[in-house]
Amino acid sequence: MKEGYLYENLGQDRVRCFLCNHRCLIKEGARGICGVRENQSGKLFTLVYDKVIAAHIDPIEKKPLFHFLPGTRSYSIATVGCNFSCLFCQNADISQMPSDHHRIYGEKMTPREIVQKAVHEHAASISFTYTEPTIFFELALDTAKLAAGEGLKNIFVSNGYMSEDSLREIHPDLHGANIDLKAYSDRFYKEQCGARLEPVLKNLATLVELGVWLEVTTLIIPGLNDSPGELKSLARFLADLNPDIPWHISRFHPTYRLSDLQATPAETIHRACELGYEAGLKYVYPGNLPGDKGENTFCPSCGKTLIDRFGFQVQEYTILNRRCPQCGEAIPGVWENS
Ligand code: SF4
Repeated sequence: MKEGYLYENLGQDRVRCFLCNHRCLIKEGARGICGVRENQSGKLFTLVYDKVIAAHIDPIEKKPLFHFLPGTRSYSIATVGCNFSCLFCQNADISQMPSDHHRIYGEKMTPREIVQKAVHEHAASISFTYTEPTIFFELALDTAKLAAGEGLKNIFVSNGYMSEDSLREIHPDLHGANIDLKAYSDRFYKEQCGARLEPVLKNLATLVELGVWLEVTTLIIPGLNDSPGELKSLARFLADLNPDIPWHISRFHPTYRLSDLQATPAETIHRACELGYEAGLKYVYPGNLPGDKGENTFCPSCGKTLIDRFGFQVQEYTILNRRCPQCGEAIPGVWENS
C-alpha cells in the first residue's frame, strides 16, 4: 500500500483528498467516493497502486485520439475504481467494482515494469484509461515520469474531474488527453454520473492553456443528452475554447444500468456532427459507427482526405510536415517527429 499524494490531515484523524473535484472528507477507516483511497489513522493510502486490473496494447485510435501519432500502439492500463458512477458505464465491471462489489482486484505491476512492457511491445505511448486515471494518480504519475524518460508519450483518457492541483502536477509529463464531455447540463452530470459539469469545463480550458493535446468525446444517449439545443451549446463551448479540438461523437449501446434504452440512431450522430461543424469545429468524428465516411480526417480548407480510417485502423495517411499536401493548410495534432 502506498501513501496517497495530494491530501491533507485535518486533525482528529480526518483527511481531505485533493485528487479530484469531489474533495472527499474522509474519516478514520473510511474510503472516498472512488472506493480506492482509505484513511488509516489519519493518513490517506491508495489501495490500487500495485493492482493493475487491465493491461492491453490498443491502437491509439481506440482511445479515441485521431490527431495523436496515428497508427501507433498505446500500452493501456487501468486499476479498478472511479470517481463517477455513470449509469451507462461501458466498463462498470471494473470501474464500479469497489462500490458495487466491495472488492479491489489487480495484478502487481510496478511503474518500471509497466514502462518496460510498453517498450517491449513497441508502443509509442502509455494510456491511463478504461477506468478513471485520476483515482490511480500515484501509479499514473510515477509511471508517466519514467515513461517520458524513455521517450514515450503519456495519455489520460478521463472524465476530466481531476483537481487543478493534480492536473498541474502531472502536466509536464502528460502529452495527450481524451476527455469526456458527457453532456452540457449540470442536471445530467448529477443524475447520471454523480458529479458536476462546471469542473469538467474548467479542466478542459486548463488543458488547452497548458498545451496538452486535447480531444473530446461525447457519448450521445437517446432522450438524455441528445437535444439539438444542448449539443449546439456544447459544440459552441468547444469551438470557443479552440476550433481545432477534435470532437468525437459516440453512439450509445445499451449497457449497465441503462440496458433498457435503445442504441443511438445513426442519424442522431450524423446530425450532432453537423451541429459541431456549424458551431465552427474543424474536426468532428462519429464514433462507434465503423465504416462511416466521417471517421476520416479531411482538410478543413480544401477537403482532401488526409487520414483514411476504418474503425480503429489507419488505411492511408497523407499529412506531410504537419500540413495538407494539397493546399498546405496546417493540420493540428501530434504527428510523427513533432
Ligand atoms: S480521488 Fe476524488 S473521489 Fe477519490 S477520495 Fe479523492 S477526492 Fe474522493
